[in-house]
This record gives sequence, C-alpha cells and structure tokens, in this order.
Amino acid sequence: MSFWDLFKDNRPICSHCNEEKTENEFEGLPTCEYCKHKILLERRINAEKVYYCPDCETPMKKICIDEIDIIKDQCPKCKGVFLNHNELEIITDYLKEEYSDGGGDMVTGMLIGGIVGSQIGGFGGK
Ligand SMILES: [Zn+2]
Ligand SMILES: [Zn+2]
Repeated sequence: MSFWDLFKDNRPICSHCNEEKTENEFEGLPTCEYCKHKILLERRINAEKVYYCPDCETPMKKICIDEIDIIKDQCPKCKGVFLNHNELEIITDYLKEEYSDGGGDMVTGMLIGGIVGSQIGGFGGK
C-alpha cells in the first residue's frame, strides 16, 4: 500500500454530494470544498432581500458571479440586472485590474456588459 492509497482511503466521502472524498469538515459533517462553497452561497442568497424588476415586476433571480464573489439580481423575463450599491464598482475595479495592460474603457464597458447581462446602459448591445 503506497502513501497515496492510505491518503485516499482514509478520507470520508462528502455527505452532501456523496461523490467527493474530502478531509474537510463543515458543521461536523464531511464536506468537500465545492459543497461548502455552495452551502455558504445558498445561505447568503437566502439572507438577501428579493428584488422585483422595475420594468415588469417579476421577482429577480439571484445569480453569483464567482470570479468577483458578487450576487447579482437579474430579471428572468426581460434580463434586466440590478446591482447593490457597491457592486458595480467592484466589477469595474476587477476588470481594470484584469485588463490593465490594454483595452481601456471601451473594452471594460463591453466586458461589464458581458458579465452583468446585455441590458445595462449601452454596453453589450443586443
Ligand atoms: Zn460534496
Ligand atoms: Zn423584468
């Protein structure tokens, strides 16, 4: 038996997805990184207030943008996007950092359009 067999065999299976073996625990249960992330995200989403689309009054859907750890609210019907107070700034800062070696504001604008959806200002287009 090699070291790696030992390592693998001793780890319990994640009690949430029943697939991943993991040495991590979350609230007393074996939980893989992915499931832990998902549980915490769900709790954050449930703790947030539901917004209604200003255009068609449909309850907006909460979608996580993993790269920048932001939960955006998007109308499932007309695809309008609502961001909380500082979220647009976080997105802009992230993009400026990621693409600081070229592009400029126009590219940044297009990328914002891509991330938050097509109906923000004039970005992204149809
Ligand atoms: Zn899991
Ligand atoms: Zn709408």
